[in-house]
Formats: sequence, structure tokens, C-alpha cells
Amino acid sequence: MLKGFGFLLKYTWKYSKTYVLAIFLLQIVSSAIPLAGVIIPKFIIDELMGRQRVEHLIFWIVMLLACNFVGGIFIAFLRGYTFTSKGIVFCKFQTMLAEKLALCDFEQLENPEFLDIKEQAGKFLYANGQGFGVVLDSAVNILGKIFIFGGLVAILSTVNVFIVILFVGLVLLDAYVDGKVRKRYVDWEMEKAPIERKTVYYRNLVEDFSYGKETRMYSLKNWIVEKISAHLMLSNNFYKKQVKDSNKVQYFSKFTSLLRDSCAYAYVTYGVLSRSIGVGNFTMYISAVAQFSTAMNEVMNSILNIKQFGQYYVALEKYMNVPAKMREGKKVPVCGKEHTIEFRDVSFRYHAEGPYVLQNVNITICPGEKLSIVGENGTGKTTFVKLLCRLYDPTEGQILMDGIDIKDYDYDAYMSALSAVFQDYKLFSFTVKENVALDRADMISDDVAEQIIRQSGFGDKLDRLEQGIHSHIYKNFESDGFEPSGGEGQKLSLARALFKDAPIVILDEPTAALDPRAEYELYQKFNDLVHGKTAVFISHRLSSSRFCDKVAVFQKGEIIEYGSHDELISKGGTYAELFRMQSEYYVENAAS
Ligand code: ADP
Repeated sequence: MLKGFGFLLKYTWKYSKTYVLAIFLLQIVSSAIPLAGVIIPKFIIDELMGRQRVEHLIFWIVMLLACNFVGGIFIAFLRGYTFTSKGIVFCKFQTMLAEKLALCDFEQLENPEFLDIKEQAGKFLYANGQGFGVVLDSAVNILGKIFIFGGLVAILSTVNVFIVILFVGLVLLDAYVDGKVRKRYVDWEMEKAPIERKTVYYRNLVEDFSYGKETRMYSLKNWIVEKISAHLMLSNNFYKKQVKDSNKVQYFSKFTSLLRDSCAYAYVTYGVLSRSIGVGNFTMYISAVAQFSTAMNEVMNSILNIKQFGQYYVALEKYMNVPAKMREGKKVPVCGKEHTIEFRDVSFRYHAEGPYVLQNVNITICPGEKLSIVGENGTGKTTFVKLLCRLYDPTEGQILMDGIDIKDYDYDAYMSALSAVFQDYKLFSFTVKENVALDRADMISDDVAEQIIRQSGFGDKLDRLEQGIHSHIYKNFESDGFEPSGGEGQKLSLARALFKDAPIVILDEPTAALDPRAEYELYQKFNDLVHGKTAVFISHRLSSSRFCDKVAVFQKGEIIEYGSHDELISKGGTYAELFRMQSEYYVENAAS
């Protein structure tokens, strides 16, 4: 419990010192004002019942009104201030969680266990509609209430110490019951997290433009809406259980309040009737009892809040401690621009119990070499380049760059040595230039960006765009944005890879969506585009292997043939057969 609180205090202090100070001040002021409201009326009543001196009456009334007025304004100001400061701290925590996600290992993004932990960790920010803010407020509340408490206990002890003990006992009983319920509340919140994650996914299916075609063509509306509704209902069942439980606590608390107030009224009224308590004191005691219980309940509530968030913190800590394995290691810098890549006995499977997707892959790619990777679907070609890109680490064996295991390189430095166009490339809802130059868009001139964009074959489309490279892709933010065709998108993703100007270029079916002319043009200038760089090229169009230095043929996760195009053709193996089949197809099609 205290660990979570310590973490919170440390970071909140770091992000906004004035926020921490302001909530302290707010508590002191909000505690002092009720105390004045308990004590001052006693003096007014005593004066009214006694000597009735006007100047004394005016003094106490002005004091009471001034305390309420000035205190009220100050409290309102501090509430506003702490609200906005809390917003700043909230943004910082949100950024921290987003950064964690951005830096996590790629494989975690498809790991449901990790994604559930992420959802649960988010509760630390959002739970109860207030998130972590409630913890600091609660902690300071406890401090503030100690102040008010001292005063109230002093007042009430003058009546009867046993009454104070009884009241404390009732509040502790309340807190015990509440604590039990809250524990269940948090457990249910954690159980609910995976359901909420699924609900977000289903909602996204109807919101996200990219699913729009499928959902309409296959009339999925009802199917998906039913899923959304079913998952919302599942979440609602949790809310029902939570509300039912917390209602029980409320009822119990009302019962203890009734007991407390009955005792207080009976005892103090008896005191007044037997003349051991004056009328002024009667008002003060009754008011003190009410304030005492409120304060005590608030303290207990605050302690339980901190305890509850301690459980959310456990989830946050678990999430923050998920190791980013790719970023561990020796952090060797990457030197030079010419690199030799070697796969040494590499085997790989996506899951510990799953089948091997790559087995005993041994291959060396020399600096400046162009390697074509061919093979049927599902034979591990993309997996091979994903390993090269360190999206996953090999299950067995090693990948070396210049004789050093790629795991030992500084992760970002290694990434800067590669650029890749994946089959499932993604464009962003940014401008054309930003999509290509990304975070360097502001640093490079439009001319340089345009030149690269034209090199990738996007020139024709660019000439038709009114705002040229500043045109927006997609329409979700700009109504005049455009929706790129598959081929246009592929050209832009190629431009992005070229712009990165990394020494190793990986192209996974870069022409799959191109028309024959664009494909032909790309092949023609392929050597110019990747001049001097090492290139790994996956293509189903075997004719493209001709301009590569080496061809590796994959089958069932293994390299079954390796050599130049001419060598493999003369060998007459699988590659030669695949090449012959494809050529015949084209010849037949051309003839028909
Ligand atoms: P290719 O590029 O040759 O078509 P892939 O490397 O994409 O083949 O896939 C090889 C095998 O690995 C396929 O059986 C595929 O289903 C499986 N696979 C690919 N990605 C994943 C993944 N993220 N998790 C589990 N299995 C995967």
C-alpha cells in the first residue's frame, strides 16, 4: 500500500510541486473552517443566553461569516488550481504509460497476457473516475483531519471519554466492512479489464474506416453490434455486483450513524436537562459529534482509498516492470556503412509450444549484395526478415552483423542500419511528406522530399494532388485528404524506406500491389534506388531475382537452394521449376 503511495508522491512531486503544496493547503483550510463552525456558534449562543453584549455578538458573528466567506473563496480557488495541476500530472503519467508501450518488445503487442496487464495498469489512472489523484487527496486528507480531529476529541472528551471511544469503535467497524468490499471491488475491476479491452476492439471495428468495407460488404453490422452489446452487458454485470456490494456498506454505515447520533443526542440532552451541560455547549457538542464522525469516516475512507489504489499500483508496477528485452544487452554502437549479415543455425518459433517456422537457417549476406528470397506461401520468408529486423529474436542460433550478435548492438543504432518495406506497411493520417520523412519532416526541404517521392514512382499521383507533398493522406482529420490506392501506398512506403537511407534495405513483396508498368519501372531502376546498399528482396515474381546477386529458396522454414539465378536455373531444382512455371504462365497469357 505504502509502496504505491511512495511511487505516486515521488512522481507527482517531480511533475508538479505546486500541485502537492496546493492540496496540502486545501486540506488545512478545509479542515479549519468546519472547526470554526463548531466552536464559534457556542460563543454566540452563550452570549445570547447570558450577558447579550452587542459588540461581543457582532465580533463572533463577523468572525463566523468571515471564516465561511474567505475560507469558501480560498477553497474554491484551491480546488480549481489542484484540478488543473492534477490534469498536468495525469498527462505525464499517461505519457509514461504510452512511452512504456512504445518501447516494449514488438512480440508483446500480440501477447494477450501483456495487453491485459496494460489494461489493468491503466486503472491506476482511471479507476473510480478519479484515478491516482484520489490517493494524494486521501493522504493529505488524513493529515488535514488529524488537525481537525485533535480539536474535536478535545471538545468531546470534556463530555465523556467513553462516548469518544464508542464513536471510534463504530467508525472502525464501518471501515472494516468497507475494506472487505473494496478488496472485492478491485478484484472485479481486474477481472473486467480483458472484457473492456475486447469491447474497445469491437467498437473500433465499427469506428475504423479500414474495416468499413468488410463490415458493409458482409453485412456485419448486427453481428458486431451484438458483440459490442454483449460485452458491454458483461461489464455491466460487474458494475451491478460492485454497486450491490457498496450499497450494503452504505446501509451498514447509515445504521452505525443512527446508533452514534442516538447515543449523542440522548446523552447530551440528558446533560442539559440535568443542568450539567449549558445550551451553548449542547450546540457545540452536537455539532462536534457530527463533525467528528464525518472526519473519522473521511480518514477511514482515505486509508481505504490508498489501500485500494495500492492494489491498482501492483498492476501498474507489473506492467512497468515487463522487461524490454530487445533494449537490454551490451549496447555496442554500429560502425560504418558496410555490413556483413550472417544467420548461423537460426531456428525460430513464435510460441514456446508452437511449431518451428524456421529451422537451421545458415546464410551470409555480404555488403552491397542483393539477395532474393523466394518460396511458397508460409515457408518463413517474412519471418526471416522479421528476425533480421529484430522484431523477434531467434529461438536458437544467432544472427551476426559484422561478427557481432545483433542482440549486442544498441537497439536504436541497429535499427538505424536497416530500412524495410513490409507487406502490411502502414501509412499514417499525416501529409505525404510526413509519411515519408516522419519525424525529420520539418528538418528537410520540400525539394529533397519530393525528389525521393518521385523516385519511388509516386510522381504521377503527386502531380494530381493540389497540395503536392503537403496533401493529407486519409480523410479522418482533413476532409480534402486522399485515400491512396494499394499501389500508391506501396510506392510511398518505398519512398519512406529510401528516405531513411540505411545501409541495409529489406523489401517484402514491394511490387505486390503495383501495376505491370510500375513494377517494370521499379525493377529497371532497382539498382539505382538501392545503389551500393545491401538489399534483401522477397518477391513472388521470380523474374525479379535476375537482378539479384544471390537467390535463397525457402521451403518449410529451411533454405533448400542457394546460389545465383543462373546457377539455380542450371541446377534444375525447385527454383528452376518455379521459374519455368511462371515464365510459361506469362508466355501463355501473352499468346492468348
Ligand atoms: P511467408 O512470408 O513465407 O509467406 P511467414 O514467415 O509470413 O511466411 O509465415 C511462416 C509461418 O509462420 C506461417 O505458418 C504463419 O502462419 C506463421 N506466423 C507468421 N507470423 C506469426 C505470428 N505472429 N504468430 C504466429 N505464427 C505466425
